[in-house]
Amino acid sequence: MRLSTPTVKIRNTKLGGKNPIAIQSMTNTDTADAQATATQCIELYEAGSELVRITVDNEASAEAVPEIRKILDAKGYKDLPLIGDFHFIGHKLLEKYPQCAKTLDKYRINPGNVGFGKSHDENFEKIIKIAIKNKKPVRIGGNWGSLDQELLTKLMDKNPDEDIRIKTLVKSTLDSAKLAEKLGLKHDKIVLSVKVSDVQELIKAYELLVKKMGRKPYALHLGLTEAGSGLQGIVSSTVALAILLQKGIGDTIRISITPQNNEPRIREVQACKHLLQSLDLRRFQPKIVSCPGCGRTNNALFQKIVKEVNHYVGKNNLEPINIAVMGCVVNGPGESRQADVALHLPGKNEKVSASVYIK
Ligand code: SF4
Repeated sequence: MRLSTPTVKIRNTKLGGKNPIAIQSMTNTDTADAQATATQCIELYEAGSELVRITVDNEASAEAVPEIRKILDAKGYKDLPLIGDFHFIGHKLLEKYPQCAKTLDKYRINPGNVGFGKSHDENFEKIIKIAIKNKKPVRIGGNWGSLDQELLTKLMDKNPDEDIRIKTLVKSTLDSAKLAEKLGLKHDKIVLSVKVSDVQELIKAYELLVKKMGRKPYALHLGLTEAGSGLQGIVSSTVALAILLQKGIGDTIRISITPQNNEPRIREVQACKHLLQSLDLRRFQPKIVSCPGCGRTNNALFQKIVKEVNHYVGKNNLEPINIAVMGCVVNGPGESRQADVALHLPGKNEKVSASVYIK
C-alpha cells in the first residue's frame, strides 16, 4: 500500500497523497542562458516531465530565472512548474534576487551544504523564511555525497558502525524538515529525499527514513544519485526505484543519466515513463508486448514489423491499449488473447502471412 503522504502543490501540479507518481527531470544548460534553458525546460515538459528543475548556482542564473519564466509563459507553458536547485549560497541568492525567489515554484536545498555550525542554522532559517513569505514548497534533499560533516563526526564517535553514512543522511534530512516546520513551513510544503549512488544503500536509506518519519510522513522524492550513463544508469535507477515504489514509497521520481554521444536529455523522462508504466502505476501510451524472436521466425521481417509498430505508437497519441507483436505460433496466440490488438507471424518455413487479432 502506498505511504499516506500529504499533497504538495507545485504551481498546478500536485504530488503526494493519492496523486499519480510525478515525473521530474533537470536541465543541463547554463541557467544564465535564459533562452537555452527555457527551450530545454519545454523539451523535458513536452516529453512528460511534470516538474522541471534548473540549477541556480550564481548571480547570473538567479537573475535569469524571471526571464526564463517570461519565455515559458509567452510560449504557452504557463503551467510548467520551475524548481530552483540551490547549493552553498542559496540563502544569499534568494535574498539578493527576490524576483527569482518569487518566480520559482519550489526550492530544492541540500542540508549538507547550507553552511556549518551557527551559520548552517542561520542560512537555513533565511531560506525557509523566504519560502514561507513566497508560499513556496521546499525539497530538503540530502545526498550522501555532501553529508553534514559535523553530524557525521558526532554520530561516528557515538556509534561507529557501517551504516553511519545512511543514518547521518536520514537524520540530517529529517532534523532539517523538523526545523523548517518549527520555523513555520507547513508540513504540506515539504518534500524529502535521501539520495545515494548505491542501489542497496538507497533502499536502506528510504526504508529508514520511512521508519523514522513515523505516523506523519512527508512527501518523498526518489532518485538514485550519480547513477551513471546509458544502460547502466537506467537499469540501476530502475531497479532501485521499482523496489521502493512497489513498497509504496515515493511520490515523485527522477532517473538521472549522464548523457553520452549527444543522447537527448529527455531520455531520463522516457525512462521514468517506462518504469511507471511497467509497474502499472501509470499509463502513458499503448503497452507493446513483443517476443525476442528466435530461430523459429523470419527475424528480419519480424523485427521490421516490431520497429514499425513501436515507431507508430511513439509518433501518435494513442489510447493506452495493449498491443502484442509475436514471432510465431508458439506464444503468439496466447499473448494475442491478452491484447487489444495483436499479430503474430507463422513459423519460418510457412507462407508469410500474419494472423491479426482484435480484442
Ligand atoms: S514466440 Fe516464437 S519466435 Fe517468438 S521467441 Fe517464442 S518461439 Fe521464438
